[in-house]
Amino acid sequence: MAAGPGGSTQDEVRRHNVSTLLRYVHVHGPTSRAELTSAMQLNRSTIGTLTADLAGAGLVREELPARTAGAGAGRPSLVVWPRPEQVYVLAFDIGVDYLIAARVGLGGSILDRRELYRPRGDYAMDDVVNHLCRFTTEMSARAEPGSVCVGVGAAIAGVVRESDGLVRFAPNLGWVDEPLGSALAEGLGRQGVRARVAVGNDADLGALAEHVRGAAAGATDAVYLTGEVGVGAGIIVGGEPLRGHGGYGGELGHMVVNPAGRLCRCGARGCWETEIGEKAILDAAGHPDGPRSTVPAVVAAASGGDPRALAAVRHVGEWLAIGVGNLVNIFNPEVVIFGGLLRDLFPAVEQQLSGALRTVGLSAPREQVRLTAPGLGADSTLVGAAERAFGPLLFDPPGTLALLA
Ligand SMILES: [Zn+2]
Repeated sequence: MAAGPGGSTQDEVRRHNVSTLLRYVHVHGPTSRAELTSAMQLNRSTIGTLTADLAGAGLVREELPARTAGAGAGRPSLVVWPRPEQVYVLAFDIGVDYLIAARVGLGGSILDRRELYRPRGDYAMDDVVNHLCRFTTEMSARAEPGSVCVGVGAAIAGVVRESDGLVRFAPNLGWVDEPLGSALAEGLGRQGVRARVAVGNDADLGALAEHVRGAAAGATDAVYLTGEVGVGAGIIVGGEPLRGHGGYGGELGHMVVNPAGRLCRCGARGCWETEIGEKAILDAAGHPDGPRSTVPAVVAAASGGDPRALAAVRHVGEWLAIGVGNLVNIFNPEVVIFGGLLRDLFPAVEQQLSGALRTVGLSAPREQVRLTAPGLGADSTLVGAAERAFGPLLFDPPGTLALLA
C-alpha cells in the first residue's frame, strides 16, 4: 500500500500497519521480526519501528529467541511477544443455567476465570450483572499492578442490538429489551473499569472465536452451530460474519423444518431447535426434566447400547442431518462446527450425518465440507466474547489506549 502525499494518509497507513502487526501477534503468539517482515510484506526497518511503537505502549515485548539454531552469521531475529499480563479484557458467557467470567490476556490466554452453575430460571438482568461484577472484583484483585483492561465482551443466547448491547429477546431467560450493555458498563464503571462493553449473540461470538483461533481458522466460509436450551448459529461468509440488515441474521434454530412439529418458544411451529435442541433429545430419551448433564448421559447410554437412548440419538441425528444438508447447500461452507450440547452429541451422530448428507446435500458442496467439534472445546463462546472485546484495541491500538489513559 502506497502512502499518499497527505499527512492523514500517512497516519492512516501507520495505524493500519500497527493494527495488523498487533493482530498477528495476538492470534499467532510470539513471532520473530523476520516472520513478521515476510507475513506483512514490509521492510525490516518498518517492522522495527512498528514493534518499538507497540512495545512503548506496553502491548508487546521483544526478546532474543531462547535457542538460536546453528551458529550462522548475523544476529538472530528478535521475537515479538504479546503482553497478556499487562493488557487484558473481561469476557462473560451468560447462559440460562450458568455464568462464566474470565480475564483474558492479549494473545488469548485465559488468565483467571469464575463459574457459577445453578438451576434454570428466569434470572433478572440485575442479578446477572451483580454476579458478573462480583466475579470482576475478585479477578481484578489478582491482576498485575499497572495492567489495563482494554475491553469487555459479553455473550448471551438471545437477539442483541450490538450498537448499545440492548438484549431485544432472550426467550430462555425471559428477557425482553433488557439494557445489558449499559447496566454492565455502569456496574463495572463503579469498580473503575472504563473500557467499552460489547454484547453479542452467543453463537455469533462462538463463530468468531472458532474463526480466529479454532476449527474454522483459515476458512473463509463456516457455520458454527450451538445447542443449549435453544439452538443458535454463527455464519461466516467470505471471511466475514453474516449479519443481516439489522444484525439479527443467522437464526438457524428458528428455520422451520417440520410444520407438523412442536410449538417453539418464538411462536412458530416446527423450528429446527424444537427437533434438535436439548428438549427434543431429553423427551425422546424419556428424561424430559433432566438437568444439564443429562444430554452427555444419554449419549453415553446410547454408545453403551441402551435402546431408548440409541433411538433418541438417531432421531435427533436425522433432524440434524436435514438442517445441516440445507446449510451445506445454501452456504457451501468449508466447515460446520457443532458447539454447546451439540458438541456432546456430535461423536454419536457423526457417521449418521455423513451418511445422510449423501441424500440431503448436493454432491459438489458436500464433498468440500468438514463436520467437526469446536477447536476451543466448551470455551468457544467465552473466547468469542474476549475476541469481540479486543476488537477496538486491535483496530486502533494507540487510539484505544489514549481513550483509557
Ligand atoms: Zn422458533
